[in-house]
Amino acid sequence: MKLPICNFDAKAGILCPKCDAKLRSGHITKADVDVSNRLVKLASQIPELDRISLVRAYDIDGSIIMVLNSGDVVSLRRDNVLRRKIEHDMGNKMWLVDAQATDRKLLDDLFYPVRILSVNQVWLPDGSKMTRAIIMGRRTERFPLDLDLVKKMVKTVRGIELLAEFEKQ
Ligand SMILES: [Zn+2]
Repeated sequence: MKLPICNFDAKAGILCPKCDAKLRSGHITKADVDVSNRLVKLASQIPELDRISLVRAYDIDGSIIMVLNSGDVVSLRRDNVLRRKIEHDMGNKMWLVDAQATDRKLLDDLFYPVRILSVNQVWLPDGSKMTRAIIMGRRTERFPLDLDLVKKMVKTVRGIELLAEFEKQ
């Protein structure tokens, strides 16, 4: 398993001086450390995890985003049982994001299972740029996403200011 911290640190639950310096300087965050520690523990029950590379982890209001290498996202997503087991053991809702994904692909991943019709850039009167995603159809009562959370995730992972609109008002 590749992690933002040394495997040894994750196993021992402590940080070596090098990783500690990375944390203090802000190159990695507490979420990177926490998720690494939990993944290493989980790998003793789920051997498939030994093959993954965790690039970064984010904790946004209790939702965990794991940024992984592309192949890892595909294999974890293919296996629903495995995915649920990881989510259950981590005790959080989990999003998987491909580190190499384009902005559009990232949005598709974070909106899943909701489908995005189109994505474009818009400039606001004050000169700031936003990314506008048009969601297919209209908003129903059973709309499954917390759009404010998705906006926070997109902003945290990619620095994108997201505007989400529905195709039909
Ligand atoms: Zn270390």
